Amino acid sequence: MIGLKCSLRVRYVIYNIKLKRMKKKLKVSAIRNGTVIDHIPAGNLFKVIAILGLDQVEGQITFGTNLDSGKLGRKAIIKASETYFEDDDINRIALIAPHAKLNIIKDYQVVEKKVVEIPETIRGIVKCFNPQCITNNEEITTFFQVVSKNPIALKCRYCEKITGSDQLTMK
Ligand code: ZN
Repeated sequence: MIGLKCSLRVRYVIYNIKLKRMKKKLKVSAIRNGTVIDHIPAGNLFKVIAILGLDQVEGQITFGTNLDSGKLGRKAIIKASETYFEDDDINRIALIAPHAKLNIIKDYQVVEKKVVEIPETIRGIVKCFNPQCITNNEEITTFFQVVSKNPIALKCRYCEKITGSDQLTMK
């Protein structure tokens, strides 16, 4: 009789530990509603956060970085609770996270998946490679026409020079 009580107690404790672990894992890995952005190159995580203005939102933001990813080497992931993005906004990260994938979450379920697309025009984010360009000498936001997406080529609206993928630097 004593033996039975003991083993029930042990089972109860183990059950509780498992439950606590599950809850902890859930808190980190799942969001009830919001957006998960996966496959961000680890080195660009904070640029993505800045471009999307995630340092300004009210919802909870969690992120992980230096996670193993087959094709990207090291990747980062962002989970933005109660936060959703317009396509135009999310496409702003395409230059620095071209393989990013979005999962839109409602009530813990993925209800929509999105990939980013390089937009037709890019405002800000990138520097014009031409040192003489007015955008490099005055407080003017850069503005480019995307003339090629692969490889990337951006035509500056101000000096009309083309910034190529190997000259791409972020503002
Ligand atoms: Zn320029």
